[in-house]
Amino acid sequence: MTPNNLPAVTRFAPSPTGFMHIGGVRTALFAYLYAKRTGGIFILRIEDTDKEREVLGSIDHIKASLEWLGLTYDFGPDKPGPWGSAIQSERLPIYQRYAQTLIEKGLAYPDPYTPEEVEGFRAAAAAEKRPFLFRDHRPATFSAWDGTRPLRLKVPEIKRYTWQDAVRGELTAGPEALDDVVLIKADGYPTYNFAHIVDDHEMGVTHIMRADEFIASTPKFLSIYDALGIPYPIFVSLPPILRDDRTKKLGKRDGAKDILDYRTEGYLPDAMVNFLAMTGWNPGTDQEFFTREELVAAFDIHRIQRAGAVVNDDKLLWLNKQHLSRLSDNDFLSYLLESTVDHPLLSVAHADTLPSLVPTIRERISVRSEFDTALMDGEYDFAVTQPTYDTALLLWKKDPDVAAALPRLERLVQLLTQATVWGNEELKAIVMPYAEEVGKGEVLWPLRVALSGRAQSPDPFTLMVTIGKAATLDRLATACAKIGSNATT
Ligand code: GLU
Repeated sequence: MTPNNLPAVTRFAPSPTGFMHIGGVRTALFAYLYAKRTGGIFILRIEDTDKEREVLGSIDHIKASLEWLGLTYDFGPDKPGPWGSAIQSERLPIYQRYAQTLIEKGLAYPDPYTPEEVEGFRAAAAAEKRPFLFRDHRPATFSAWDGTRPLRLKVPEIKRYTWQDAVRGELTAGPEALDDVVLIKADGYPTYNFAHIVDDHEMGVTHIMRADEFIASTPKFLSIYDALGIPYPIFVSLPPILRDDRTKKLGKRDGAKDILDYRTEGYLPDAMVNFLAMTGWNPGTDQEFFTREELVAAFDIHRIQRAGAVVNDDKLLWLNKQHLSRLSDNDFLSYLLESTVDHPLLSVAHADTLPSLVPTIRERISVRSEFDTALMDGEYDFAVTQPTYDTALLLWKKDPDVAAALPRLERLVQLLTQATVWGNEELKAIVMPYAEEVGKGEVLWPLRVALSGRAQSPDPFTLMVTIGKAATLDRLATACAKIGSNATT
């Protein structure tokens, strides 16, 4: 094993088969963090050798996801390395060259069978209740390979393999795990099994971080390493990410979201990185909030857990709020303005209004989507338009009828008219002594409703500061008039 913390070369090697979800990004993050921790190299390699499964646009999506999270790669699809392109479909001659060396060693041969013949072998094995292994049908003599047939590995030694996994410790599997796997398909493309081994070797990858579902195939990989005569890298098998009920791996069907949807919802990249790092890894202390720099400094392969990790949405929200609290008011304002909700509060016409709401919104939300919902629900309409509401809403629950609020609202008008400085603290100093004398709910409830027209809104002082003195007095007068006219009808 390479001693810990020598510069590591890691890679994230997605197949471009659709959007990236949490699982893929977590793998990328761990590979990135370890490379950074050790002052090494992080590679993004595109494994596009299964042309049938490829989804157009996936590469751009992968790049955009990593870019959003700040997982900058040293080599990638648009940054070739000294070893050439990081896109497998652009590396076919390299796999051919490695395949030729195996043929020359007598360790690879063209598959002579038709699909029907293979089906026959499979059916016979099933009838006899034994596992189907291609190597049981290996031809006695190998014909020359003309590239039109699949090229198979001749497993160099049928034996039990025992190997080390940095997370799982010693692992072992018997010879039944070995078979004459396909190396190059009839279409000329290599299989994943073959290509990733060639590439990891060519690219100098020291640590393979990937989902632990690949453990079952590792003996097959080891037989390919042995056939090629190349040393094993360090295997780092990452625990699965589970659904809430812990019964199954979280998959697209269980609501695993496109990672970029989190961006749309307003999760900060640093919060997402912090959250994903804690999904299957822990620092060995109680610390949960990490900046990116702190993560790079703390990340240690030996603290990657074996057990599956459950995605905890509440934890993500909490972390996002913590990371939001580090934004300056100006940055928080820009963050809010990224909302795509069509609301006048976000328009230039109200460019002076939103800043005064920043402290309140900061307190009220953990993620921008909560602000979006509040905007759509009309919670911030008070800031841009005169509220319309039913007079009954002014009724404080302890009052006998809505008319009881009238003298209090009139008193508030008197008090507030005298205000010279229109700030949060100053307004509290004017209103609170009166509210404490008469009853807080009795005063603050009708005040808040008169200003917002809603049962739910920011506190009355925020409302007053946001809309200003003239609008405040105007809305209070309107409320008085409403109650007055009600009282007379
Ligand atoms: N292309 C494989 C996948 O997307 C990568 C596995 C690996 O990292 O070796 O699952």
